[in-house]
Amino acid sequence: MRPKTLRDLDPAELRGKRVLVRVDYNVPMDEDGTVRDANRIEASLPTLRYLLEHGARPVLVSHLGRPKGEVVPRYSLAPLAPVLERLLGAPVQFMAETDTDAAVEATRQLEEGDVLLLENTRFLPGETANDPELSRRLARLGDLFVNDAFGSTHREHSSVVGVADLLSPAVAGFLVESELMAFAELRNPRERPFVVAFGGAKISDKIPLIEAFLDRADAVLIGGAMANTFIRASGLGTGASLVEEDALDVAAGFLARPEHRLSLPTDVVVADAGEPDAALSSIVAVDSIPADRAAFDIGPRTRETFAHAIGESRTFFWNGPMGLFEVPGFDSGTVRMARAAAEATAEGAFTVVGGGDSASAIRQAGLAGAVSHVSTGGGAALEYLAKGSLPGLDALDRIGI
Ligand code: ADP
Ligand code: MG
Repeated sequence: MRPKTLRDLDPAELRGKRVLVRVDYNVPMDEDGTVRDANRIEASLPTLRYLLEHGARPVLVSHLGRPKGEVVPRYSLAPLAPVLERLLGAPVQFMAETDTDAAVEATRQLEEGDVLLLENTRFLPGETANDPELSRRLARLGDLFVNDAFGSTHREHSSVVGVADLLSPAVAGFLVESELMAFAELRNPRERPFVVAFGGAKISDKIPLIEAFLDRADAVLIGGAMANTFIRASGLGTGASLVEEDALDVAAGFLARPEHRLSLPTDVVVADAGEPDAALSSIVAVDSIPADRAAFDIGPRTRETFAHAIGESRTFFWNGPMGLFEVPGFDSGTVRMARAAAEATAEGAFTVVGGGDSASAIRQAGLAGAVSHVSTGGGAALEYLAKGSLPGLDALDRIGI
């Protein structure tokens, strides 16, 4: 059984219908209300174009930020309407209401070819509690439901789960569909070697994922701040590096497993912990991290070892930057990984990059188009990989074997 998608519906069923679409427009905004990165809006366009082409009337709901059930003006979706209108090339009306009678009336008045964007679902007190009463009010906004908010599909919220239970059909949009296809491949790779790379700040977020892949992958490469915790757990000193003390036991447990699939850095780039300055950095072997310095990137030897493993892979998954990539000079490990992934893809490997910061890192390297799939979902992608299901998917109509 898999969730039904928009493709499974007879397009004739869409004509004239109000389609409530849950999108993930949780985009980064500047203080002055301008959208800093419209990637998540762009990712929704295939679904919206398909709906418009078939004469449906899309009604969009999303959350933005964490306004905690009250109206917080800086989290209004109003500034997104002109951005969506420009990208989509169709009129987008914005309404500063979400679950009211006036909003329902606006969905009924919506003209063919237009899109209606409603206000932030997290302005509503019941949203994050999946309140049944709120779900009923939201379900009045559409004749059918499309979930295209992959990044929110791990949330048991009214606009993700509650409405999907009430509206029928309730199907996945094209973004969710493409994400699921990529992750199904990672859960069950057709071609090996299957190599995964983990980096980023924290192990604790990613323990179930590392656990899942230690069994399934042929090699697990560890970089980023996460590697420091493993390095310390292996008995070495880590100086002033970021280490997750609470996760040392788990890391030691992973290291003690007999399969020996974990690869840790053999060298690292260290700098002053307080004000990491790449100009004052140096490369040291992993057993010689000075007491007053911290590791901010994987070293050149490690980069080549990891790049070689990625080059050998036929299926590759990467989550978490290899270093403090936002600071120039500490992005070399991350950029080298991105290049290795792009090269492997050109050689025919299936390659996926997942996680919010990882996705921006590969975009920053200009290589997002050179890998098989860049996931828009952070937490949702990781939860799906670890468990093979998500609350928002389970709430959709199911089909087939
Ligand atoms: P993702 O969003 O892709 O899942 P994470 O949120 O887990 O990734 O981690 C990304 C963050 O980890 C980035 O802000 C990056 O700067 C930080 N990071 C990675 N390596 C280091 C390091 N060695 N020291 C400090 N921060 C690091
Ligand atoms: Mg992150």
